Amino acid sequence: MATNMDWLNRSLKAVWHPCTQMKWHEDGALPLAPIARGQGAWLYDFDGRRYLDAIGSWWVNLFGHANPRINAAIRDQLDRLEHVILAGFTHAPVVELSERLSALTSGTLGHCFYASDGSSAVEIALKMSAHYWRNQGHPEKNRFLCLTGSYHGETLGTLGVSDVELYKEAYGPLMRHAITVPSPDARQAVEGETALDVARRAAAGLEIVLAEHHTSVAALIVEPLVQGAVGMVMYDPAYLRLARALCNRYQVHLIADEIMVGFGRTGTLFAHEQASIRPDFLCLSKGLTSGYLPLSVTLTTDAVYAAFYDDAVTRGFLHSHSFTGNPLACRAALAVLDIFTEDHIIDRNRSFAERFTGMLAPLAHHPRVRHFRRRGMIWALDIDTDLPDFRLRFYREALAREVFLRPLGTTVYFMPPYILDNDETALLAERAVAALNAVLETDSPSLLEKEDSGSNVVK
Ligand code: PMP
Repeated sequence: MATNMDWLNRSLKAVWHPCTQMKWHEDGALPLAPIARGQGAWLYDFDGRRYLDAIGSWWVNLFGHANPRINAAIRDQLDRLEHVILAGFTHAPVVELSERLSALTSGTLGHCFYASDGSSAVEIALKMSAHYWRNQGHPEKNRFLCLTGSYHGETLGTLGVSDVELYKEAYGPLMRHAITVPSPDARQAVEGETALDVARRAAAGLEIVLAEHHTSVAALIVEPLVQGAVGMVMYDPAYLRLARALCNRYQVHLIADEIMVGFGRTGTLFAHEQASIRPDFLCLSKGLTSGYLPLSVTLTTDAVYAAFYDDAVTRGFLHSHSFTGNPLACRAALAVLDIFTEDHIIDRNRSFAERFTGMLAPLAHHPRVRHFRRRGMIWALDIDTDLPDFRLRFYREALAREVFLRPLGTTVYFMPPYILDNDETALLAERAVAALNAVLETDSPSLLEKEDSGSNVVK
């Protein structure tokens, strides 16, 4: 039987891991964990150790690993049709999924364009928005606005609408930069201010930029309610309401990137619902298949669709991926939607969230914790520490306690799958505090030979 060490050594030779300084894997600063199987919220390695997947494997997993209902749906589809080109052909899973997603937006976003990952869904929204304006006789409307600290993916187009210093430094010359507008980050509230005040201030900043640039701007892109990769920045829904009104006034599209926050993460099925608005484009991925298979979708309105409907091929939307609308992935997504309705997930999550928040009280009141915050099924807190390698230390201490948590710089967050039982929830809360105390009490030398200048940015 192969052991952890066998897989670890082979992986280090052949696999270039994402978002990772590979040297840290080699020298042990960031241990690589070979996983043999998953079951429910747990991941198991080849030596029999287990880890509670408290960040849903990069925010994708909603209903646990090896979920019997999603497994069954995929198996059933596998015997009918594994894949077919979606240009010139169609199939039941993609039709049913499109109808159901559209119905979930009350029909306001009635047209679904598919890809295989979140970045591609964002690229599609950006291209569609600019192409819409071109088809309307406004080719000059081709720039984008994004929030300070935004993150929308890692392809060149999506890096252009992201505000992540490390990536700008490395890939800036390859990017076409968006204009950044103020983030409504509720932590900016000064004494006597509320999150709503901050939202209003950020919207006023947006208006100044729109007033000056709207004739050359196609769209504003936002992560509704929670800006994820920058450190689980949370903000008041009023910002979305104000931004929607401003986009209408200045004839600019609103793109909602709900790749992380969609599918119940913020307490409603879609985050933008909490502002009682609809975007012009809605990007979904990750939880869409509960992390089972790579699938993403960009939904848009009849008005956008109609602007492309013509005899001229150049007025049509020019975009295609080999795996667009993959039937297996669409069937997994249909099974996910079934679980949402059959198990009343949104309601059930509400009581889970209250319970878990109570269990996290020792963290919320910890003397070194700042800005303990929650939105729906996302919990985050900032640690007051000067340790340059805090995130690596915390990650290791948590793993040593069977808990998989991956801080963003000095921000620790929880984004668990929606299936934790009471024992698992209690274990997660207790061991997170124990890991934090172990890190803060340490006086061992830095894990890194050089300073980790990217400590704030890597998701
Ligand atoms: N947008 C947001 C808000 C995300 O969180 C992510 C992924 N973390 C993406 C886009 C990119 O998705 P992917 O990694 O699937 O390309």
